[in-house]
Amino acid sequence: MAAETEGLRLPLYCPLVVDGEEGKAASGRRFARENPANVREVATVAEEGTQEDARAAIDAARAAFDSNAGNWIYNGKLREQVLSRTARLVRDNADRLARVVSLEVGMPMRQATPHIAAAADIFEFYAGLAGKLYGESFTLPSGSMINLVKEPVGVVGMITPWNFPLTQTARKVAPAIAAGCTIVIKPASYTPAATYELVKLIQQTGLPKGVLNLVPGPGAVVGAEIIASKKVDKISFTGETGTGKRIGAQAGMEVKRVSLELGGKAPYLIFDDADVEAAARAAIFGMFRNAGQACGATTRLLVQQGIHEKFLSRVAELTRKIEVGHPSKPSTDMGPLISATQERVVQEYIQYGVDKGFRLVTGGHKPSGPGYDDGYYVEPTIFDGVDNASRLGQEEIFGPVVAVTTFRDEAEAIELANAVDFGLVAGVWSADYPRAMRVARRIRAGTVWIWDNYAQPVEGIWGGYKQSGMGRELGYHGLNDFLEIKQIFTDGTGLAMKPPYGQVIKD
Ligand code: NDP
Repeated sequence: MAAETEGLRLPLYCPLVVDGEEGKAASGRRFARENPANVREVATVAEEGTQEDARAAIDAARAAFDSNAGNWIYNGKLREQVLSRTARLVRDNADRLARVVSLEVGMPMRQATPHIAAAADIFEFYAGLAGKLYGESFTLPSGSMINLVKEPVGVVGMITPWNFPLTQTARKVAPAIAAGCTIVIKPASYTPAATYELVKLIQQTGLPKGVLNLVPGPGAVVGAEIIASKKVDKISFTGETGTGKRIGAQAGMEVKRVSLELGGKAPYLIFDDADVEAAARAAIFGMFRNAGQACGATTRLLVQQGIHEKFLSRVAELTRKIEVGHPSKPSTDMGPLISATQERVVQEYIQYGVDKGFRLVTGGHKPSGPGYDDGYYVEPTIFDGVDNASRLGQEEIFGPVVAVTTFRDEAEAIELANAVDFGLVAGVWSADYPRAMRVARRIRAGTVWIWDNYAQPVEGIWGGYKQSGMGRELGYHGLNDFLEIKQIFTDGTGLAMKPPYGQVIKD
């Protein structure tokens, strides 16, 4: 039965979008997504796409690309218009989009609202690049000419996560459109409606049929078909490292282009001379934004011995002030986790920390009181004295659980920061800029913040070293990930018998 929640008529719905038409799954089946803040409520009902549906979407994307539908590949002006109109539509619909994201993810509105603005910024940035894919030209001494032209990589299969559904999708879709690719998206099953709402807006901007297709459904069915299909030229995946490894291996068998944005275990290095107040606030932002369900979340606080007590007591004080509550409440700082499974996993890590004898500084429980039992809530939690080699120091928890470890000197700080399988992001706090810079250079991660945390301007990049991924999103580099470079060589000599031919022809 339809209900009204926070200005949204529930349940939300996510159809398939194939060749410009909305449709139902071939199986006739649908799946439901509960509201993580109130599990008695169905947030979304989505079509449960099948292998057959995935194939239809891939065929539509392939046909649109191969026929250069609407001159899509060469009409940068059209692609620029699609992207700038999308940016405008996202802004015009920001309130609804933020509510949808907040509902499906459990993200507080105070975070969902800037999340939508960030998605609009991404479309706007790539609108600016779409009509400017200049190549290079070089004339050889012989007069022959090399032209290097940039071309779209082709049909891109996008498999997206649930934690920041709009920006994660925008980071892939916007540069792929700017490049002239055609697209099939498999959204995370926790957030199909958020992805569909964005796709629906893009469909209104005048792009040719078949350029953008959406197939909700299980990763192991829809996602697997997209990865296996020979008609897909590139996979752009964001999700867990375990899933990414399997996808990378499979894509490798077909020599399919692949970019992987995977997990993290971000260290935050606080040196003795750090500005305690600024560093503590920045740490809190990175630790508990979206309840720690962020690939770049600050999960390890590495603190120099001399400042440990002062810094930790300020961080603990700020953490205790965090209001855990319903995502729609304006004062809420932290909402629920995404699922019952994730709540159980986080509780298991907390129990592990207790069993190992690490000091529980704050949090560690499910908050009690009205409303909390209806959702997947966990308190923001900090353990001190954590052994970096333990599971709390090594594994991605994807929840509001932070491990504090002390270090003696710069060398030990760098060693601890790098002693994990991941390398997505890190932070450094020291008043000594040359030292902060030196340390930033030594940390093996795709982004290192000095005197800030979780800044992700679209003009920059996002992507990981080590097991945090391959490829870069955002900025110019994010566009290059969707481009091939072709060389067109034109003879400038006019000779019928060119000197190299003599290697095979005698006269
Ligand atoms: P998952 O790997 O579980 O899922 C990601 C996507 O992959 C979903 O759409 C999922 O579908 C799909 N999928 C799952 N199994 C398969 C399969 N066998 N074949 C094809 N597709 C599959 O990750 P989460 O959604 O749980 O996202 C959280 C993870 O994402 C964390 O590890 C986080 O660090 C990482 N992440 C990384 C970012 C980065 O930029 N580096 C940014 C954001 C998140 P379904 O939902 O149907 O299972």
